[in-house]
Order: sequence, then structure tokens, then C-alpha cells
Amino acid sequence: MPIATTNPATGQVLKTYDPMSAEQIDAAIERADLAYRQLGRTTLDQRAGWMNAAADVMDAERDEIARIMTTEMGKTYASAKAEVTKCAKAARFYAAHAAEFLADEPADAAAVSATRAFVRYQPIGPVLAVMPWNFPLWQVMRFAAPALMAGNTGLLKHASNVPQTALLLEDLFRRAGFPEGAFTTLLVGSEAVDQILSDPRVRAATLTGSEGAGRSIAQIAGRELKKTVLELGGSDPFVVMPSADLDKAAEVATTARCQNNGQSCIAAKRFIVHADVFDAFAEKFAANMAALRVGDPMDEQTDVGPLASERGRDEVHAQVRDAVEKGATVLVGGEPPAGDGWWYPPTVVTGLTPEMRMWHEEVFGPVAGLFRVSSYDEAIEVANGTTFGLGSNAWTQDEDEQARFATDLDAGNVFINGMTTSFPELPFGGVKNSGYGRELSALGMREFCNTKTVWVGEGAGSVGPAGAHAE
Ligand code: NAP
Repeated sequence: MPIATTNPATGQVLKTYDPMSAEQIDAAIERADLAYRQLGRTTLDQRAGWMNAAADVMDAERDEIARIMTTEMGKTYASAKAEVTKCAKAARFYAAHAAEFLADEPADAAAVSATRAFVRYQPIGPVLAVMPWNFPLWQVMRFAAPALMAGNTGLLKHASNVPQTALLLEDLFRRAGFPEGAFTTLLVGSEAVDQILSDPRVRAATLTGSEGAGRSIAQIAGRELKKTVLELGGSDPFVVMPSADLDKAAEVATTARCQNNGQSCIAAKRFIVHADVFDAFAEKFAANMAALRVGDPMDEQTDVGPLASERGRDEVHAQVRDAVEKGATVLVGGEPPAGDGWWYPPTVVTGLTPEMRMWHEEVFGPVAGLFRVSSYDEAIEVANGTTFGLGSNAWTQDEDEQARFATDLDAGNVFINGMTTSFPELPFGGVKNSGYGRELSALGMREFCNTKTVWVGEGAGSVGPAGAHAE
């Protein structure tokens, strides 16, 4: 795949880049390794100052950063601006909380025959981040903010279709004050990942992307005995039970499916509706989906812009056609418009069966599958009946059902009467083929730390606090 900015609204190639050579990659890894040592001599306060400065730059330059994202991958300008604001907030969150998340944790010294015992969290070194295009700032920031605050350095291999956002991120951290090499963008295709992750100076990798990329990176990491965090795909269930507020559920369902032009890992993708309310919900949901305005993503009135690539748009349409050919019914949408750009209309498909691709696969576009079920147990069976387990949503006013959904949905998160989203304050990640490990919160920060046990015996002194070893 060439490294290029191609406007998905027009199909026009705007800028191309030569991939970095093996020598340039090697030099970048060397800088990241040196910067890691340099970061080890900085204090948390210093790093927090730089991270807050990065947040200030994002706030000040929000509109321009958002315009670049919209041009590169087609998300609406309004949602791009919200993404920049969210990133600034996450940067400030980690600047404010790093000291608490990394503080030494005392253990029961007497139980382990010590005078003192505790756990210390320490950085591990350069971490490779392989990232997707769909939230091109947020996916990177939710790795970079905790990683840099912990004292790790970041090597970003961004998706090949968002090179300008990738370069902007390196520039952002440099301008904020982080040392040269603390955060480096590698303009490379996916074939370079093996070289980078095999390098002994690179200590770990985080990937947000597809299942296929996850398998490939996990294989390399397995061979090299390196830690990975994998945030992969999802086909999140959105269950609607008879007691649900149907108007609200249908409204949120529409946003949950079509946010980011339908290209979110945690978009609700399978709408599993109890038979008692199926027809009423389907009618409201289909009407909402049909009413969405599809158009120029820079227009503030637009709800849904183009899909990010021609290949992605064609794949979504192939999944819909497969369902229709096998007997499914399209309630709304289902046909891409003619002309330039990679558009796909908000679409609702019902009558799905296990022979159809849409039953099992993730659909990465504004296409909802409707499933009719006749009991709580059947809802759980369908909801958990895929290889994925990222997010999940359940709509019910019944408190007993709410408690059961929270336990029974086999996913990394459960949102009751709401739509799945991510917050710096809460852990984020999946189970099954949606990946492993967690981002965000204290857990996300500690994924790339050495959780070090310190045991102190008689006569050893007090062993001082963690901190910079200033020269
Ligand atoms: P993708 O094709 O897997 O690409 C993601 C990143 O992985 C890109 O940087 C890509 O590089 C790289 N890559 C692809 N194949 C690779 C391989 N074999 N070895 C090493 N690197 C490889 O995914 P995408 O199309 O950008 O994103 C959509 C997918 O990401 C969906 O499945 C979505 O659900 C998932 N996603 C998950 C989360 C989450 O938090 N769980 C969040 C967002 C998206 P190139 O661009 O150079 O190919």
C-alpha cells in the first residue's frame, strides 16, 4: 500500500511519501533508545509539563488538526474536532494522574518476612505502536500519553493512509518539549514491522487494528518474546429488551452504528431485539438511519461522510450483497451511489442467518444487522455468538436483567442503556478475537511497565522512593 493522503470524498491523491529505508528505521530506533535513557533522568513533573503543553497545542490548533484528519480519512469535521478535544483531555488526565498510577504499592512485609516490601512500576523502553486510521489522533494518544508519562518512548507505525496525521503527532510531542526521539513517526508500510519489532532495542508493541494484523504481530512478538497489547476488531451487540425506552434506544442505536461513518471498532453492529418490540424498534431505527445526512464531511450539517478507502467501501457492499443473495431483506440503503468518492448509505438489513457473512463478520461501515430473539437467553446466545468480544450494549429498564447482562455479555465492556465509548478513566480492551491487554486508566499505563517486586531484608535501610536520577 503506498503511503499517501487520498481524500476519500473525491478519490484524489493529495500527497505521497517515500517509505523510510532500513537504515533510516535503524537510526530512528537508536534515537528512541537514547531518548529512553534521557527520559529516565527526567521527573514526572517535567514530563507532565510537556504532556500538558502537548494538550495546549492540540486545543490551540484543534481546527487545523481536525481538517487534516477529515481530508485523510473522511470523518466529519465536527467529529474530528471532538476527537482532538478528547485527546487533549486524555493528555491532561495522564499528566495529572501518572504520579498516582506509578506510585510504589506497599505489600504486607511481615507476610513475606521482609522489613519492607512493595511493587514499583518502571518503564521498559521503546514501544512500537502500530495504529489504524479510523481515529487517527485518539488511537495514538491513548497509547502515547500513558507511555511517555511512564518514561517509555514511542515508535509510531501509523496506517499508510494517514501520513500527515502521523507526522503531525511527532511534531506535536517535539514542540511540547519532549526530547528528540521520545516519540518518532516511522513512515513505513506493514512489511517493515518485522524488522522493527525484531530489533532488540524495541521492547514491546501495541497494535490497534484488524484480526489479521493482530495475528501477524503476535507471531513476531511470540518469536521475539515481546509483550504485546492487541486492540482488534469487534462486532458489538446492541440488545433491546421489551422494557427498554424504545425512542431513546433507536436514537442511540443510530449514533452507535454510524459514528465515524460506521468505522469504529466499538460501533454497535448487531442489533438484537426482543420479538415483543422488534417491529416497533425496527421502524424507528430504520427511519432514523434513513434521515441521516450523507455528504461532504467538512459540512457541519453532515452526519455521515465517505468510507476511508475504496477497498473498505467495496468490502462493506460485498457483505450486504452476500446477505441479500442468501435471502436477507434491506429495510434502508444497500446501494452505493455512483460518482467519485467512497460513499455508502446508512443501511439496515434484517432476516440474517448463520450462512451469511454479516452474521459472523465485522461490518466496517454504516450497516446495521437486525436480529429477532424471543427470550433473554436467546439474546445472550446471539450476542455472544461471534468470535469477537470487544464492546456490548444492553437496553432494558428491568434491574434484574441489567445485572444479568453486566455479567453474561462476553465482552471487554458492557454499557447498560448507553452506547459503548472510551474514557481515559476506564480500562478499554477486548476478549476472544478482539484482542488482549487493556488501554486507558491505570491498567493501560502499567501494561508497558516493569511491575517490579522490591523485597527489603534486615539492615537494608529504607530504600528510597522512585524518581529521577539526575546527573
Ligand atoms: P489494519 O488493516 O489491521 O491496519 C491497522 C494497522 O496495522 C495499520 O498501521 C496497518 O498498516 C498495520 N498492518 C496491517 N496488516 C499488518 C500486518 N500483517 N503486519 C503488521 N502490520 C499490519 O486495520 P484498519 O483497516 O486500519 O482498521 C480497522 C480495524 O481495526 C477494524 O477491524 C477495527 O475494528 C479495528 N480497530 C480496533 C480498535 C480497538 O480498540 N479494538 C480500534 C480501532 C480499530 P498499513 O496501513 O500500512 O497496512
